[in-house]
Amino acid sequence: MARSVSYITPSQLISLNRTKSVAIVDVRDEERSYDAHIAGSHHYASDSFEEKMPELLQAVEGKDTLVFHCALSKVRGPSCARMFADYLSEMKDDARINKVMILERGFNGWHSSGRPVCRCTDIPCKGEIE
Ligand SMILES: [Zn+2]
Repeated sequence: MARSVSYITPSQLISLNRTKSVAIVDVRDEERSYDAHIAGSHHYASDSFEEKMPELLQAVEGKDTLVFHCALSKVRGPSCARMFADYLSEMKDDARINKVMILERGFNGWHSSGRPVCRCTDIPCKGEIE
């Protein structure tokens, strides 16, 4: 059965993140290297996303919610989120991740509403959302 993918706002993400069960997945491509990013986010560029899904699944072990975003969360974020939701549906042991979500308005919306961003070069980022 296909999983549904729903949207989450930045303020919902901040409160959900306090549970420590959320992984943020940035699927922007090269923009991540010259734009900032959301603290604590993983980076799986959309252009190689499909082949890296097994790696992502391992990287988010222990999390139960994944929140995807791109620059605007209009095209790349939603399509990668759906692709990953389908991938989870095909896996037998998929009980841990029970929510796949998309950050509304993406990184640009996050940044333009004045929320803190990180400019480190670590992948995944070791920072935390304040
Ligand atoms: Zn960082």
